[in-house]
Amino acid sequence: MDSYDVIVIGTGAGGGTLARHLAPSGKRILLLERGGWLPRELDNWLTESVFVDNRYVSPDTWYDKDGTAFQPGVHYYVGGATKLYGAALYRLREEDFGELSHQDGISPTWPIPYDELEPYYTLAEQLYQVHGARGEDPTEPPASAPYPHPPVSHEPRIQQLADDLAAAGHHPFHAPCGIMLDESNPAFSACIRCANCDGFPCLVHAKSDAEVLGVRPALEHQNVTLLTGANVTRLETNDAGTSVTEVVVDRDGSEERFTADVVVVSCGAANSAKLLLQSANDRHPHGLANGSDQVGRNYMFHDSTAVLALSREENETAYQKTLGLNDFYFGADDFGYPLGNVQMVGKSQAAMFRGERPRETRLAPEWTLERMARHAIDFWLSTEDLPRPDNRVTVDRDGNLTLTYTETNAEAKKRLYTKVKSLLGKLDMNPDHLIHRFAYMKNDIPIAGCAHQAGTCRFGTDEVTSVLDTDCKAHELDNLYVVDTSFFPSIGAVNPALTAMANALRVGDHLLARLN
Ligand SMILES: Cc1cc2nc3c(=O)[nH]c(=O)nc-3n(C[C@H](O)[C@H](O)[C@H](O)COP(=O)(O)OP(=O)(O)OC[C@H]3O[C@@H](n4cnc5c(N)ncnc54)[C@H](O)[C@@H]3O)c2cc1C
Ligand code: SF4
Repeated sequence: MDSYDVIVIGTGAGGGTLARHLAPSGKRILLLERGGWLPRELDNWLTESVFVDNRYVSPDTWYDKDGTAFQPGVHYYVGGATKLYGAALYRLREEDFGELSHQDGISPTWPIPYDELEPYYTLAEQLYQVHGARGEDPTEPPASAPYPHPPVSHEPRIQQLADDLAAAGHHPFHAPCGIMLDESNPAFSACIRCANCDGFPCLVHAKSDAEVLGVRPALEHQNVTLLTGANVTRLETNDAGTSVTEVVVDRDGSEERFTADVVVVSCGAANSAKLLLQSANDRHPHGLANGSDQVGRNYMFHDSTAVLALSREENETAYQKTLGLNDFYFGADDFGYPLGNVQMVGKSQAAMFRGERPRETRLAPEWTLERMARHAIDFWLSTEDLPRPDNRVTVDRDGNLTLTYTETNAEAKKRLYTKVKSLLGKLDMNPDHLIHRFAYMKNDIPIAGCAHQAGTCRFGTDEVTSVLDTDCKAHELDNLYVVDTSFFPSIGAVNPALTAMANALRVGDHLLARLN
């Protein structure tokens, strides 16, 4: 059986980042990834392939609490979900690390303060080449360095929106973007600033994803090995149940086994919980590292709403994700609880409506959809989802995954939507602005839209209420770590990937110290 210093299972935001950080150490590192390399093909940028045919969505079937089957929006590739992500790379707010009262309950304190993660946020921003501007967003947490790259400029219609928001007394800011765009030297820029970024793979590898900036640089080191098509099905332990001794892999139907001093699980929040639960043994009868009965619980995924507003004049923006607004992050004059984050989402295209709302659009004449898309300005509203023990991942004997979920903070989510709607109405009064012709089309993202999944193995100091310690090591095992979004005790209202990357770097430093 091949033996390594470290095995990392999953190569997304957590695992891919950790691999890059550990690679220069010279330690023998094995990356096990159930997916393959995402093919570079024209379909990467074809809206129909990506949004209608779901070409890059896994064929998995999961079940909801009523036993209804659904296809989750998960992506099994080298780089994980970051291959498709929008690369909006936000830090959590400093306040998100403390206790925050929401209308539906408490968002709990993290076991580490913001200050402890801050240097790693800075490092993650550098590794993932984040473009942004400090000092524009009043809610932004303290940072020890400027963004490594200047903000991505707004295209004219979004600049107009920023100006109008500012004129109305708001604080729009340049959103932190992980795209390798060099506006000062376009001929040599890797990124061509296209319209097919958010939700698409990047054909020219200019998106700051965990394949391009995590796994590929790691593989430049000869001590790092990647096995694709390597679906980890089980972790086995010593008789005492105190150490993982073998990692069991299904590769094209054959079983392979590997061993390592340290085993790091980073399969994404739902699949990491699944792996631990289905690794139950005599010493861990309810699942590995699950003496607390917390594995799989506290699943969160953001109460997100995609909203498009229609303007009388066309919105010719290609890359739309340049603007954010956190003025309602912690509340509003008429509501004493947090509402959430407002940002732009990838520009609507007619073909997307067929993918997102097939029933409503199947019979619609194409010109209507085209026109709607040309006039759309698209927003993404995110309200914090609270950790609830009953919102959980469970696995049956056949390995079927059930996601039991009941929405939290529905009132805050509704109010954020209403705020944005009323904001557009105010901008209406500006004669230079065309929002007065706007209408809304609102999409609730069902549980299948699990892009922002987190929780399920939260870290903490109390082994009765958490799965991992503050180094993200399982309380009950001496060599098992989890570094994907599973460790989040709360999710805040901004996108999670940068926090997973920063934490993987933090855990990476711990592992480097441990291994040396
Ligand atoms: C369309 C889309 C848009 C998004 N936009 C943003 C955004 O703009 N900003 C942001 O911050 N976040 C965004 N996200 C979310 C972000 O991508 C995730 O938060 C992040 O990738 C999570 O990292 P992770 O390491 O937890 O899991 P993943 O990145 O999902 O990685 C998990 C990896 O584990 C592998 N794996 C799973 N099970 C096994 C197994 N049993 N054996 C071996 N390998 C396994 C998977 O194939 C995958 O490679 C988006 C996600 C999607 C899908
Ligand atoms: S905008 Fe840039 S990073 Fe995004 S898909 Fe297009 S070329 Fe790639």
